[in-house]
Amino acid sequence: MNYETILNQKIQGIQPSGIRKFFDILEEMKDAISLGIGEPDFVTPWHIRDAGIYSLERGYTKYTSNAGMAELRREIASYLDRRFGLKYDYASQILVTVGGSEALDLSLRVLLNPGDEVIIPVPSFVCYGPLTEMAGGVPVYVELKAENQFRLTPEQLKAAITPRTKALVLPFPSNPTGGIMERQDLEALAQVLRDTEIMVVSDEIYAELTYGQRHVSMANLEEMYDRTIVVNGFSKSHAMTGWRMGYVCAPKPIIQCLTKLHQFGIMSAPTVSQYAAIEAMRNGDRDIEHMREEYDSRRRYLVENLRRIGLSCFEPKGAFYVFPDIRSTGLTSNEFCERFLREERVAVIPGSAFGPGGEGFVRACYAASMKDISEAITRMDNFLTNLRHSQGRG
Ligand code: PMP
Repeated sequence: MNYETILNQKIQGIQPSGIRKFFDILEEMKDAISLGIGEPDFVTPWHIRDAGIYSLERGYTKYTSNAGMAELRREIASYLDRRFGLKYDYASQILVTVGGSEALDLSLRVLLNPGDEVIIPVPSFVCYGPLTEMAGGVPVYVELKAENQFRLTPEQLKAAITPRTKALVLPFPSNPTGGIMERQDLEALAQVLRDTEIMVVSDEIYAELTYGQRHVSMANLEEMYDRTIVVNGFSKSHAMTGWRMGYVCAPKPIIQCLTKLHQFGIMSAPTVSQYAAIEAMRNGDRDIEHMREEYDSRRRYLVENLRRIGLSCFEPKGAFYVFPDIRSTGLTSNEFCERFLREERVAVIPGSAFGPGGEGFVRACYAASMKDISEAITRMDNFLTNLRHSQGRG
């Protein structure tokens, strides 16, 4: 069989995620420390796990309605209002999905016709470009700059817009930079979008993880509400990555289209996870605060210590990543990560894996224990000292 001619051309052309390679090396190493993977080190809080278990005990093992259980959608609507002042009608404006990932995929697919352009700020989470291409669209990457605190500026947005622009992805708080967009930043973008019909796909999966100020959504701006699709989920806020629970909120006609795709491709999100998610929405706010406080102290420790050992590091205001500048080492981000992993047995991810604009930086995830984080700093100090010696700069 010649699979090259049989398989879909577009899928064959897509590069696999640059993150995986490091996990393959890591898997073979003993006593390695991973600040690589982007998921909470916390186990899902007990009362949420218990709600999942209890649903199984009661035998709730059937499909739910396509959009997700009404009770869960009601709780999501109440949570979004309580936490972010976002108002959505549970019956017509919320669809429960298999993680934020499915929500992103569906959102791009319902918007794009062949050749439509999607503006994607980078460095950012790895899925937006491939999902755009799979939906027949064309990614248009805009490189965010450290000197702008990795925010998207109105000038950059304006310069990227063409008559073919269909959508803008807003990936804030950001994986991998930790950058956020504050209300005035969003207002400046809204000004640019005002006279266009460009839609916004706002990935707010890290909305609960901001340090110093509450997250503001593009949908909080009145004039943007009708053209914003908000993607969110339970993975990061409630340490629930493996439950695969996410949701998407949007105006009714968009949700109707999204629900068609979801209905034919998925049926309904996992039932046991929906029961756990109801409990998370109802009684999980204290868990969120607890985890955020923990992440915040690790964040401050990491930034301070990376700077102490000689790396310039932007102070992240959201998510759980630091994104230090490694250009002073003279290594590419890929070389840096491969050598650091082989010589010191610590995994961090090359910035280049997150698209153009990520080169010269590496991503370290601080959803790891303080013990591992402080050991990683000791090893990085060692690595940098040895590197300077070998380069005759010691
Ligand atoms: N968006 C961003 C920015 C992410 O970092 C991730 C997971 N790493 C996701 C979406 C997907 O999360 P999930 O499918 O688990 O909800």
